[in-house]
Amino acid sequence: MQYRKDRSGNNLSILGFGCMRFTKKGSGIDIAKAEQELMAAYRAGVNYFDTAYIYPGSEAALGEIFERNHIREQINIATKLPQYLIGNRTALDRYFQEELSRLRTDHVDYYLMHHLTDVAMWEKLKKIGILEWIQEKKQAGAIRNIGFSYHGNTDNFLKILNDYDWDFCQIQYNYLDEVAQAGRDGLHAAAAKGIPVMIMEPLRGGKLVSMLPEQAKKAMQNSGRNWGPAEWGLRWLYNQPEVTVVLSGMNSVEMVEANCRTASEATAGSLTPDDFATLEAVKAAIREREKVGCTGCRYCMPCPKGVDIPGIFRCYNTMYTESKSQGRFQFAQTVGLTREPAFASQCIRCGKCEQHCPQSIPIREKLQEADKALRPLPYKIGIQAARAFMFRKTRYSKRI
Ligand code: SF4
Ligand code: SF4
Repeated sequence: MQYRKDRSGNNLSILGFGCMRFTKKGSGIDIAKAEQELMAAYRAGVNYFDTAYIYPGSEAALGEIFERNHIREQINIATKLPQYLIGNRTALDRYFQEELSRLRTDHVDYYLMHHLTDVAMWEKLKKIGILEWIQEKKQAGAIRNIGFSYHGNTDNFLKILNDYDWDFCQIQYNYLDEVAQAGRDGLHAAAAKGIPVMIMEPLRGGKLVSMLPEQAKKAMQNSGRNWGPAEWGLRWLYNQPEVTVVLSGMNSVEMVEANCRTASEATAGSLTPDDFATLEAVKAAIREREKVGCTGCRYCMPCPKGVDIPGIFRCYNTMYTESKSQGRFQFAQTVGLTREPAFASQCIRCGKCEQHCPQSIPIREKLQEADKALRPLPYKIGIQAARAFMFRKTRYSKRI
């Protein structure tokens, strides 16, 4: 295993264990199987385990397994505040204490504001006293490092990043999402501030392994490298020194062993021009299925009406490169439920964006097409209801 440093100089394994999707047994987690996988990772040098309040049964499973194996003090636990459920200061303590109790510990090594999608969410937390709360918990040693996990656009990521003295952050990043969400710009901005970056969805929830088109698989096979799709995805990340930990949800001991092997071999800056050419061929094969040739360059932004043009096109494309439900899910997550609405229906057809698009995309027309596909009536109603609940009693609950 190789290690990279956090802000205090602690060694973190470059492979972290993502604990969102353990194998199920009945209605709960198959604890015996999870224990085998977690302990295989621990023995191979993994010392970073990422969970969250809302991952069903995960915190309690980790608490039980780490306690039984007496390894709590040798590993780092990252877990997350369900900030979207929090309305006041009392709730901060209630959720945090519940998490400590589930995890059978008196401290969290890396604590994240879960799933921020725009700066308004962070502002809301500040209003209920999160800054003072964090300071108290850090002083008491109950939280060692504070960070946030992020799913919005690059602009909002940078605003949140620059608004507080974070110890680390967590972003979705992989060779297909290089310019999506926080993206490469966000990664580099965090690294420039000396903030460690943990990577989630390194293989897009396994899609960069299980849903690769034949042409993409062929490009990998003909590369002269004996790497499988997962190894390509992980090596692309480890190649970047700005990446600190790559989180992988591993559902078998074999997968743990394979990923640990990659994490013991892959070094920053080791990919060759031929390797990058292979990955370009892979991306081209995936993108052949896309509906809009948007590269995510963001030259069209900002839209004066707040439309998230590249975000909408990315989700629209995901409907065709992965699945309709995945595209719509990502849309709800990254566009539909941000506090500042960013829907295509806000477009006033001014045409400003099209003047800047290097791909000459008829953005106005494609936005309407994408909106129709991403928000059929039941989804529209669902998103509206979720917004009304999340942003109740605010101007954001109005119909959009
Ligand atoms: S045409 Fe629509 S999407 Fe483009 S800048 Fe104008 S309002 Fe925004
Ligand atoms: S300028 Fe064109 S290619 Fe770039 S993000 Fe906007 S729509 Fe996509």
